[in-house]
Amino acid sequence: PTAATRPRLTLKLCEPRGFCAGVDRAIQIVVLALKKYGAPVYVRHEIVHNRYVVDGLRDMGAVFVKDLDEVPDDGQPVVFSAHGVPKSVPARAEARDMFYLDATCPLVSKVHKQGLRHVKLGRHVLLIGHAGHPEVVGTLGQLPPGTVTLIETEEDVAAFEPADPSALGFITQTTLSVDDTAGVVTALARKFPELHAPASESICYATTNRQDAVKAASEKTDLFIVVGAPNSSNSRRLVEVAKRFGAKDAILVESEHDIPWETVTDGATIALSAGASAPDILVDGIIARARADYEVSLEIVQTAEENELFPVMRAIRDVPLTPA
Ligand code: SF4
Repeated sequence: PTAATRPRLTLKLCEPRGFCAGVDRAIQIVVLALKKYGAPVYVRHEIVHNRYVVDGLRDMGAVFVKDLDEVPDDGQPVVFSAHGVPKSVPARAEARDMFYLDATCPLVSKVHKQGLRHVKLGRHVLLIGHAGHPEVVGTLGQLPPGTVTLIETEEDVAAFEPADPSALGFITQTTLSVDDTAGVVTALARKFPELHAPASESICYATTNRQDAVKAASEKTDLFIVVGAPNSSNSRRLVEVAKRFGAKDAILVESEHDIPWETVTDGATIALSAGASAPDILVDGIIARARADYEVSLEIVQTAEENELFPVMRAIRDVPLTPA
């Protein structure tokens, strides 16, 4: 079809979107470890929640395992994922004399430290987050037993009766909804006026920035497409934010194949973002598909600039990332 006959589509592209500095660093750690030490490099848990990334690293020689028990004593490195791990994991690796590289995002490690600081000051810790998410499992396992309670909802706040209401501190998962978390924190502070906040915000810059851009692009949008994995917390929050801020519909997709293109009719407006673990090549695929079938007018909705860069650990810093 010619430009005159093709259906028109307004495509709002959110900026920032996709990879954050913590995800970028975690992937680099696996790639550099493969270069320096050769295959296999064992990776405990999905390094980041994205199938495309995981499959790509597997093709390069990474072996993904659920637990350290699956790793043989062959001297090859084992990488811990960006989400962080309970203290027991490096302890077990050390007991087995394993060589490990910890790809925990520095902003997750920061939350671990914030929790430990509360404990040191004699406070019981309230971790606001989603049960079962690997980051939450890791953060719970960083704190001494009995010093932390998981709070998921405002109902959990109502039900929580601490031994000492005057000695409480909270931290949160890094990838929560900024607005929902504010609601839970308000409920906590109302019930426990002496509640201590962490020294700085636990929700990370990437989560906040991606949510802000989605908020700005949601209004007058027929379909909001978020690229991300079903188990990616920050991506799922973007879908919720889009719906709450006025998108008529919002969906989480893993690639352009998951998009119901038949519902995108002439004159439609769609918006596009991607979670912190989704590579831009998947976004590019969606734009290319849209351009093939529609007369696309592209709008960039930018709400922040990101320059964060987290360096990898010294052991692999000298390895060139690009082929020689
Ligand atoms: Fe780190 Fe935030 Fe990225 Fe998670 S989403 S890896 S906390 S920068």
